Amino acid sequence: MPGAELIGKEELDEIKDVFDKGRILYRYGLPESRSKVRQFEKEFQRKLNVKYAHAVTNGTSALLAALRALDIKPSDEVITQSFTFIATVEAIIERGAVPVITEVNTTLNMDPGDLESKITPATKAIIPVHMAGAPAQMDEIMSIAREHGILVLEDAAQAVGGTYQGKYLGTIGDIGIFSFDYGKPLTTGEGGMIVTNDESLFFTARAYSDHGHEQNPNLPRGRDTRQISGLNFRMMELEGAIGLAQLKKLDYIVKRLRENNKKAKEGIEDLPGIEFREIPDPDGEVGDSLIFFLENREAAEKFAELFRKKGYNTKNLPDAIDWHFSGTWDHIFRNYSKYKGKDLERLWKKSANLLRRAIAIPILVKMNDNDINKLTNTVREILKKIS
Ligand SMILES: *Cc1c(COP(=O)(O)O)cnc(C)c1O
Repeated sequence: MPGAELIGKEELDEIKDVFDKGRILYRYGLPESRSKVRQFEKEFQRKLNVKYAHAVTNGTSALLAALRALDIKPSDEVITQSFTFIATVEAIIERGAVPVITEVNTTLNMDPGDLESKITPATKAIIPVHMAGAPAQMDEIMSIAREHGILVLEDAAQAVGGTYQGKYLGTIGDIGIFSFDYGKPLTTGEGGMIVTNDESLFFTARAYSDHGHEQNPNLPRGRDTRQISGLNFRMMELEGAIGLAQLKKLDYIVKRLRENNKKAKEGIEDLPGIEFREIPDPDGEVGDSLIFFLENREAAEKFAELFRKKGYNTKNLPDAIDWHFSGTWDHIFRNYSKYKGKDLERLWKKSANLLRRAIAIPILVKMNDNDINKLTNTVREILKKIS
């Protein structure tokens, strides 16, 4: 929880500023120039070098609004990957569309070969997810998408600050989303952002996030124009204030995470029996997770148990695999004839084989060399014991 580690005076000062300047907690209750949410969007957009950024209540609502902007309709197929937080698939379902799930490969992100095989005439969008801070194979994914004329929504909820070949994650596809919930690299407590270079996608996503309001500058809000129905996903001023302060820390967060991740990796890379997750562009990783594979599921579960006894936590793998692997989501897929009655774990066999023997270690901004040595020594000890 890198961003959460650093919540402090700067965030409080921004919040105080909201109170000092009239205690208005609602972005549309203020002139644009004075809204913290608006300033947060502007700074975010500048930082990521993208044309438009729109802040919303959370990453899940950002996904819903982005899918609405892409005009995803009932019975359209939307492709995403087997390893993601469940929200990616829930958003597809809540738009009435059909989720189609690819395997992940040793990057633990979308397997481009499997993506190609899952495209049908009904495929309307592809959602690669940059899981646990590491970029997906965007070159391959974008070229497949372009070849078939399919739009790409990047789920960069876990990857703010990460890059792929010099471009910020979230800005490579047609539209991208971020989450600022409490566990993400940058946090506003709860929050999300939609980014795009396409004016019309931005316009629809923003309108959908606010009951269809088009933010017509020449009209009072009560007389605003509208063309589509929407919902209320408006970010509040206190979240915007925290976001402004957090964003200033992003470079520091990513720099520290990368340094610490590298040191932790170097501390265990000579160990026999472990194999690291492949990173498509190692310079672009956010670094808040260090993921490796053990020999089999039993070894991973044993490792996690002993690790916990030493006072350490894993980060989703394997402790919360049930919320991050489609192979465990019977409650969702049983409603689709395509999946009904199928053994899901076997439907995504390649992913199951990787995810079930993966260990994800959280890397923190505030770890010092001593902490990292202790961590790597613990990993070494446990591996010796279970090998
Ligand atoms: C956290 C997350 C989301 C949802 O974000 P919230 O802000 O928690 O709603 C979506 N996708 C992925 C990959 C996530 O990790």
